[in-house]
Amino acid sequence: MEKKPNVVVVGAGWAGLGATYHLAQQGYDVTLLEAGAYPGGLVAGWKTAAGRSVEAGIHGFWYPYRNIFSLVKELGLSPFTPWTRSAQYSPAGLEVESPIFQDELPLPTPLGTFLYTRFRRMPLGDRLSALPLLYAVVDFDNSDDAWQRYDLVTARELFRQFGVSARLYKESFEPMLLVGLFAPGEQCSAAAALGMLYYFILAHQPDFDVVWCRGTVGEMIFRPWVERIEQAGGKVLTQRRVTDVVLESSTSGPVAKAVVCGDDVFAADAVIFAVGVTGIQKIVGGSESLRQFPEFCSLMNLGAVDVLATRLWFDRKVTIPYASNACFGFDNTTGWTFFNLNALHDEFHDEPGTVLEADFYHANQLLPRTDAQIVEKLQRDLATCIPELGQAKVVDSSVLRLPRAVTHFAPGSYQSMLPAQTPIRNVFMSGDWVITRHGSWSQEKAYVTGLEAANLVIARLALGQPATILPVEPDEPHIQGLRSLNRTLRNLTKPLLPKLWLM
Ligand SMILES: Cc1cc2nc3c(=O)[nH]c(=O)nc-3n(C[C@H](O)[C@H](O)[C@H](O)COP(=O)(O)OP(=O)(O)OC[C@H]3O[C@@H](n4cnc5c(N)ncnc54)[C@H](O)[C@@H]3O)c2cc1C
Repeated sequence: MEKKPNVVVVGAGWAGLGATYHLAQQGYDVTLLEAGAYPGGLVAGWKTAAGRSVEAGIHGFWYPYRNIFSLVKELGLSPFTPWTRSAQYSPAGLEVESPIFQDELPLPTPLGTFLYTRFRRMPLGDRLSALPLLYAVVDFDNSDDAWQRYDLVTARELFRQFGVSARLYKESFEPMLLVGLFAPGEQCSAAAALGMLYYFILAHQPDFDVVWCRGTVGEMIFRPWVERIEQAGGKVLTQRRVTDVVLESSTSGPVAKAVVCGDDVFAADAVIFAVGVTGIQKIVGGSESLRQFPEFCSLMNLGAVDVLATRLWFDRKVTIPYASNACFGFDNTTGWTFFNLNALHDEFHDEPGTVLEADFYHANQLLPRTDAQIVEKLQRDLATCIPELGQAKVVDSSVLRLPRAVTHFAPGSYQSMLPAQTPIRNVFMSGDWVITRHGSWSQEKAYVTGLEAANLVIARLALGQPATILPVEPDEPHIQGLRSLNRTLRNLTKPLLPKLWLM
C-alpha cells in the first residue's frame, strides 16, 4: 500500500483542528501537536479541582459564522443557545439594548443597526455624527490595497477625521474596539477596525445577532470534534511544544522535512502552523531554520494583548435582564463583558445561586492584582450595573490570567503579518491573525484559515479534495454599487495625484 503523506499541524485551536479534521478525512497521516494540556486553544475549557466548569473566556458565535455553523451541523451537534439579546452598561447604568436584528423588518444596511438599537442616553446628534464614516466603510473593501492605506492610521484618528463625536466614540466605538479587537482605539489599526465593524455589525442587519454554547465550547464542540478527528485517523497529541522545523534544500528552494518537539522529531511532507502570535514568536525566536527568513523574523514586530477571564458563584439568585452584556467607562483602556451563565449554560440553569462570567480585554493593568483584589473590584463594578449583586455573597470564584493571549491588530502591523503561504513552500500559516481575503474575524477566521491552509497542502501534495469554504455573504446591492463607483473614481484619479504625498 502506498504511504500516506505526513502532515504536522502545530496548535489545536480552531485553525489547527479545522486543518487536521479536513486533511485526516482526505486520507493524510495528520499529527496535531498541542503545547497545552487540552485541545481548544483560546477556547479550551476544563473542570476545576472542585468539579466546576471554567474556560478561557466566553465565546459568542455571530450570525455570519457560516463555516462554523456548517461544521457543527455536519458533526451532528446542537451546542448553541437560541439567538440572544444583549445590553451595554456604563457606571451610569443601562445604556444600550440590542434587539434580535433578524426578527425586525429588514432594512438596507446600516439603517437597521441604527434604528433598532435602543440607546437610553446617547443624543441623536451624536449618533448621526457616525454618518460620514460610511465613506470609509465603503472605501475599505478588505483588499490588500485597502489594508495598506488604512493600516497605518489609528482607529481613533480615523473616527476623529470623519467627525465622529467625542461621546459616540467614547461610549460606542471604543467599547466595540475593546471587545472586538482587544485594544483601545489609539492602539488599533483603522483597517482592522473597519474590517471588524463591517463583518460583525454593518454588512447585513442580522450580523450582530449572536448565540453562545450551552456549556464550555471545549465540552460541547471540541471534545466530540476531536473524537471525529481520531476516528478519521488523525492524531491529536497534547503537551507537545514544537520548537523548530528541520529544512532541506530542493530544486524549488528550502522545504520542511520534519518538526522538532522537545526530544521528538516528526517527519512531515507539509507543516501547518496554527499557533497564536506569541506562540509563533517563541518558535521563531528559538528556531535555527525559521530565523533565516526575513518574513518569519518580521513576525517579531507583532503584538499580543492580555486578557482576564473570571467566573463568580453568588449565594443567591439575582435577576440579570440580559444574558450577555458589554461595559464601558469603568477603566481607561480596559473593556469588559459579563454573562449570566444561569441563562446560557445548561449546567447552571438549576443552580441555587447566580453564576456570572466576566471577561476583561486589554487587561494589562489588572493582571498584577491578586485574585481577591480582582474579585472585589469585579463585584463592585457588577453592582454598579446590577445593584442587587452588591448585597450577594461570592461563594466561589475562578480567575484565569491570559497574558499576551490575543492578537493585537496594532497600527502598522499588517506589513509584518504573513499570508497562508510562507517562503518555505510546504509550510503554511493559519490562525486568527494571518492575512486572508475571506473577510471573517475571530473564531470563524481561525477556522477558515485552517481550511485555507489545508487546501494549500492538498494543492501541493495532490491527494484528496479541497475543503469547501463558504464565503462571507455578499455585500448588499447598494454597498456593491457604492464600492464599484468608489473604485472607478479611485482608479481614474490615481494617475492624476502626485506620488509625493504621505498616504
Ligand atoms: C477572553 C476571550 C474572549 C473571546 N471572545 C470571542 C468571541 O466571543 N467570539 C469569537 O469568535 N472569538 C472570541 N475570542 C477570540 C478567539 O478565541 C480566537 O480568535 C480564536 O480562538 C483563535 O483561534 P486560533 O486557532 O487562531 O488560535 P488559538 O486558539 O490561540 O490556538 C493556538 C494553539 O497553539 C498552541 N501552541 C502555541 N505554541 C505552540 C507550540 N510551540 N507548539 C504546539 N502548540 C502551540 C496553543 O497552546 C493554542 O492551543 C476571544 C478570545 C478571548 C481570549
